[in-house]
Amino acid sequence: MKVPFLDLKAQYNSIKDEVLPEIHNVLENTAYVLGKPVFDFEAKFASENGAKHCVALSSGTDGNHVALWALGIGAGDEVIIPANTFIATAWGATLCGATPVFVDCDPESYNIDPKKVEAAITPKTKAIVAVHLYGQAADMDPLNEIAKKHKLFLLEDAAQSHFAEYKGKRIGALSDIASYSFYPGKNLGAYGEGGAITTNNDELATTSKMIRDHGGKEKYNHEILGHNYRMEGIQGAVLGVKLNHLNKWTDGRRRVAAKYRELLSDIDGIKLPTEMDYAKHVYHLFVIQVKGKDGEARTANRDRLQKHLGDNDIASGLHYPLPLHQQKCFAGLGYKYGDFPITEELAEQGLSLPMYPELTDEQLNYISEKVHAFFK
Ligand SMILES: *Cc1c(COP(=O)(O)O)cnc(C)c1O
Repeated sequence: MKVPFLDLKAQYNSIKDEVLPEIHNVLENTAYVLGKPVFDFEAKFASENGAKHCVALSSGTDGNHVALWALGIGAGDEVIIPANTFIATAWGATLCGATPVFVDCDPESYNIDPKKVEAAITPKTKAIVAVHLYGQAADMDPLNEIAKKHKLFLLEDAAQSHFAEYKGKRIGALSDIASYSFYPGKNLGAYGEGGAITTNNDELATTSKMIRDHGGKEKYNHEILGHNYRMEGIQGAVLGVKLNHLNKWTDGRRRVAAKYRELLSDIDGIKLPTEMDYAKHVYHLFVIQVKGKDGEARTANRDRLQKHLGDNDIASGLHYPLPLHQQKCFAGLGYKYGDFPITEELAEQGLSLPMYPELTDEQLNYISEKVHAFFK
């Protein structure tokens, strides 16, 4: 048996009959950039997330940039970001000319630890970015309290967490502005690049729309500085179709996670991800921790398990093997190994098992069998 890390073809096959006519329509109508399918998708995505506005963009990275840009973040400002995230969370700050300031994650949720945020605030701090990592909402109530107390903006990087919930409410409108990615491998993925911001703030929505389209509301009238961050018509059409299936796919991911828990909870050598009591996890990733052995590097046992799975045709991933504060591009910020122990432990022991809605019980049983064999 062969188990890929994710299987985009299986999903494409299941919606091919629905999605191809929509792509065909875009081509027939020559609405290649923005256009009706994109605007329809924006309206639907906003309402699904309980947000007043959605602005469709060219990628999630661009979403992080637009969000901070629209808030007026710039040179000399500091933006608080979890050390445990994908690099694109930090590009939002750096593209605005601001400095990212890292904070460690919570050992259970793997998201930014609200208890550690206040120590990172300086007079230059302007915003906090809460990443809903791996599909689980960050702890938004304490983060909103801190943001309010210190008069900071709060953003959500929701790239991995479409339809995730916090205390019974969908994320995406739980802060000033949220950023989404529709990269093909995300829980809601386009057939190319795509992203969006959602917000309840009218002014931020208007500014984001202007930044997306050369800084103006109409052609050749540029009121503010901008960029070209427009979504393509085909991506809007694809996302419009796929949005109708997202609840079902989210249920599929949660079924897979539940099955992993049932099959793997008896193994002492691994720690399964924790679903926090405030969260409805949408399992973009299923990250386990493989405990190390005395007298060897902390990565060694994890790396052996990954190789063992690979030898048995089971793909797995590392999210993320090198935390942001250890990246060469941020060497100038002066961080060192040891600054964020929880993030570092996860980087060295974390292993992401295959996760996508179409995984079968047969495949999951096979994975479990091979993991058990390793720990015997
Ligand atoms: C994927 C991702 C992004 C970037 O999205 P793109 O659409 O690939 O630019 C940003 N933040 C996080 C946490 C991500 O996982």
